[in-house]
Amino acid sequence: LERTLSIIKPDAAERNLVGRILSRFEENGFRIVAMKMLRLNQAQAEGFYAEHQGKEFFAPLVEYMMSAPIVVLVLEKENAIKDYRTLIGTTNPETAAEGTIRKEFAESQRRNSVHGSDSAESAAREIAYFFVESEIS
Ligand code: ATP
Repeated sequence: LERTLSIIKPDAAERNLVGRILSRFEENGFRIVAMKMLRLNQAQAEGFYAEHQGKEFFAPLVEYMMSAPIVVLVLEKENAIKDYRTLIGTTNPETAAEGTIRKEFAESQRRNSVHGSDSAESAAREIAYFFVESEIS
């Protein structure tokens, strides 16, 4: 089984979509093995998205990620990383496939409701960013 790091982002939490998005994860075979709600400070948001430092969308992305609470989760499944990316759809909801979470819920390319690790290396880094091993069942 593989693990991936999922975030229900501020736009979704603000619009009371947490429960519906969690249901999507479970209905699609992902087991929630860790979960917490928190609000990122600037250093935490910048550190999480460090790979995007220097890009024009970095500052507004950090601002947005601090703007409201988020829910961070570790999800477990066979091929969790790839299958989760398929379930959420492309970064831009306008190009996301029918039935994907971003197609249904995202407001824009920035306010796109969910995050998911894009590789095994990212998943390991991102899970460790938010959780210690004893918090993961
Ligand atoms: P995530 O890493 O959150 O799953 P992603 O892998 O689809 O998203 P990345 O390219 O890693 O996309 O970008 C991280 C986040 O930065 C996006 O989810 C989105 O919120 C924001 N973002 C990316 N590109 C843009 C853009 N061109 N304009 C505005 N926001 C953007």
